Amino acid sequence: MELYYAPLFSGSSGNCVFVGCENARLIVDAGVSGARICKSLSDIGVRADELNGILVTHEHADHIQSVGILSRKYDLPIYATSGTWMGMEKKIGHVESKNIRLIDPEREFSIGNITVLPFSTPHDALDPVGYSFQLGVSCFALATDIGCVKESWLKYALEADSVLLEANYDPDMLRAGPYPYDLKKRILSRKGHLSNDDSGLAAAKLIGSGTKHIILGHLSKENNFPELALRSVEGILYSEGIDANADVEIEVAKRDAITGLFQVRSGWK
Ligand SMILES: [Zn+2]
Ligand SMILES: [Zn+2]
Repeated sequence: MELYYAPLFSGSSGNCVFVGCENARLIVDAGVSGARICKSLSDIGVRADELNGILVTHEHADHIQSVGILSRKYDLPIYATSGTWMGMEKKIGHVESKNIRLIDPEREFSIGNITVLPFSTPHDALDPVGYSFQLGVSCFALATDIGCVKESWLKYALEADSVLLEANYDPDMLRAGPYPYDLKKRILSRKGHLSNDDSGLAAAKLIGSGTKHIILGHLSKENNFPELALRSVEGILYSEGIDANADVEIEVAKRDAITGLFQVRSGWK
């Protein structure tokens, strides 16, 4: 059985990633409209009523916009930490009690043949998590909305063959840009987002531990653009002695379209 994933939407304006195998189909976050998510799912051959659940990373609007709507329409369980439930309860509308699934960071659970492991991330939300997904020897990790590079979350991504890694902003664009001072301070803080350079440092560690495929995601619309994110990360890798063209496959997730449907191959590792 193979493990697949597809970033459907990625960026500060809304996030949703499909993860699945033959007997389990999930989405992580639902930060754009339900109609757009259903259309993207159908474009990769998945019907929304076939989903087995929605996993939520945290309660920010770019991750939860249609979580409640999709759960009600397709009778889908929602998996989230108690802090995330507290933060999103009032925003997502009524959810049937059978569809409220509480999860704990660092405690794995299974959906079909996929083993899901949520891990805590440093971000200014109530109890945010990233996720790793394991099927046999294949592993995919999702690590976005992360304030700084730390062993506490990185160790989970290091296990993965393929990682969706945040590269949120270019520090110079952020500092010179139009955001109010408090928002700039929040993004730059250790509970904000990963800069392109942070992302490069994390990518170097991932590649050092065998990760062969990295998708840079959750780019800021105002303070970054795809070529800059890629060039910055490749620059950091180069300074760490890694040839981004030879040692790894790196690409940038699309903001408003499907980036691709990827099979996680342990051969990547
Ligand atoms: Zn976000
Ligand atoms: Zn966030």
